[in-house]
Amino acid sequence: MELKNLNGIGTKSLKLLNMLGIYNIDDLIRNYPYRFDLIAKRNINDEKFYDNFVSDGIVLSEPIISFFKGKMNRLTFRCNVQNKMIKVTIFNRAFMKNNIKPGNVITLIGKYNPKSQTLIANNIFLKALDDKSTIIPIYHLCKGLTSKKLSKLINEALNCNEVNDNIPKAIKEKYGFMDEKMALKIIHNPNDEESLKKALKTLKYEEIFTYMKNLKLLKRKNEIHNSMYKKEIDEKKVNDFIKTLPFKLTTDQDSAIKKMIDNLKSDTKMNRLLQGDVSSGKTIVAFILAYACFTANFQSAMMVPTEILAIQHYQNAIELFKDTDFKVGILTGKMSLKEKNEVYEKLKSGKIDFLIGTHALISDKVSWSNLGFVITDEQHRFGVNQRLALKSKSLAPDVLMMSATPIPRTYALTIYGDTDIFSIKTMPTGRKKVITYVKKTSELTDVLKSIHSALKNKNQVYVISAMIEENEDTDYTNVYDLKHKFELAFKNYNIEILHGKMTGEEKDRIMQDYLDNKINILISTTVVEVGVDVTNATIMVIFDAHRFGLSTLHQLRGRVGRGMMQSYCYLISDEDKERLKIMQDETDGYKISEADFKLRGQGDLFGNRQSGALSFKLSDVKRDYDLFVKVKNDVDKYLEYDL
Ligand code: ADP
Ligand code: MG
Repeated sequence: MELKNLNGIGTKSLKLLNMLGIYNIDDLIRNYPYRFDLIAKRNINDEKFYDNFVSDGIVLSEPIISFFKGKMNRLTFRCNVQNKMIKVTIFNRAFMKNNIKPGNVITLIGKYNPKSQTLIANNIFLKALDDKSTIIPIYHLCKGLTSKKLSKLINEALNCNEVNDNIPKAIKEKYGFMDEKMALKIIHNPNDEESLKKALKTLKYEEIFTYMKNLKLLKRKNEIHNSMYKKEIDEKKVNDFIKTLPFKLTTDQDSAIKKMIDNLKSDTKMNRLLQGDVSSGKTIVAFILAYACFTANFQSAMMVPTEILAIQHYQNAIELFKDTDFKVGILTGKMSLKEKNEVYEKLKSGKIDFLIGTHALISDKVSWSNLGFVITDEQHRFGVNQRLALKSKSLAPDVLMMSATPIPRTYALTIYGDTDIFSIKTMPTGRKKVITYVKKTSELTDVLKSIHSALKNKNQVYVISAMIEENEDTDYTNVYDLKHKFELAFKNYNIEILHGKMTGEEKDRIMQDYLDNKINILISTTVVEVGVDVTNATIMVIFDAHRFGLSTLHQLRGRVGRGMMQSYCYLISDEDKERLKIMQDETDGYKISEADFKLRGQGDLFGNRQSGALSFKLSDVKRDYDLFVKVKNDVDKYLEYDL
């Protein structure tokens, strides 16, 4: 069955689903909630602070609306909750005003403060609360698609379609897993915690099992000897090029190149992961290998996650190869049709040897004359499907994935299966370490002073916040609020925001302005994490630092310290001091990653899932590491019998 055959789906909803990355029935039924909210009545007479207070009550007064900061609004009214009169505030729901009338019974969910007897609601239902507790699945949505509509479509898809059982029967019995279709039904319509946990366990196992199995099968394919993989590389030409570089390669860069040239020359397919700390110099390694393939008359492709990165790499490559006959091209989604057609033409006729681009590289229109080598940069940003699509453009490309999220080797072996991993551990000489401080919110003035002097020096500043908008069930800072505050503190400077809900175009424009030093302070969510090089930025301030994993903090910190000047990183938090201190003392990405793995906590059913390396929907490589190991063993055994 296809998506468009579902009841009640039109071109509009189809488009909205596409925006969420849903293109077929399987995507839809596996579009899992990212969090579950537990709705159970609380006793207001506990006199306790509740982050997640739930109760029904009777509205006592007409709501009053007030507007602030332009688009924001708040509704406030009084309510009788379990015979106590409290004040209720809810943000940005002005449209609910007419539904909240004195005498109505409503259900409130939010943050309760017994001292001030106030409730900041994050949700209000216009009905009384059932006696039994309810679990609400929360999905990623987009404008125009409600949770109700999405839920309806998912359930319809589930009812009209068969679901493949991916877990072998024997394994299912061994662990007492439920039927996969049943698990899917439960995860989208949870009734009780017990069965939800069981369903999640089944689906998580399934996800990892499928991944591990595919990896293993891929590896088998890669072991096949075939002369079509052989590349006649002119090593003298490669070495001559290396001599023209403006710097000397580090030992690790050098041996990475040697090893991989051997791979390229061999008659088996190369499938390598090159990992190295931020700014350890992975790009030049990739470039040299692409050049090596060129000397053997093969084209190469390099796929990067953003337009700006593509342009940056392209410009670097043009400069580095200007005295050679290696022709470099660029392809991004934003180029005009004419420009794109020109690139397609040149690729087909072999007039481009190395194409750098965004996911535009995997467009159906792209065809190569002789693609032999495929590189993906910051590979964890791409879904597995995208990587495969690029590869399939050629019969036998060798593959190099690059990642700046170093993972200790033992862990990496499990996660990436038997992909050959090469780690760059030495950094180019002359790098200044980023000086890092953990600061309490009460020590913010120190940080502001430091920002002031950087700005005076015409240097730029990054400010990171975990949240985009005000979300009243947390105290976390958000980008809009921070912009407001920074504008008061730094009146004569240009301050802009950047976050994941902006369109790609808006994001690129902001990032380009920052790169051109037209923005002094950039306030952003973690979207800046990906490797853009702004050498003029010297300060990184991260609010609510305890909310981030150490590896993420390390990645963020890597945005500064890229030029010659001393850079600083400030981690602002009143919690989790011990863990954050690791960042203060340690600059080695591998050691940080090791610590991060050791500290991994148990997953919390009702907590937000962290987005980690690779694109797993339910599993988290760090949190579920032990499960990964278990599944890997199961897969090895299973495939042994299945030959
Ligand atoms: P990353 O590994 O994060 O992708 P890059 O490849 O962007 O890092 O390299 C960061 C910077 O270091 C670039 O400006 C690059 O030119 C420079 N670089 C790379 N290798 C060396 C080297 N051996 N010596 C000095 N500078 C180098
Ligand atoms: Mg890079």
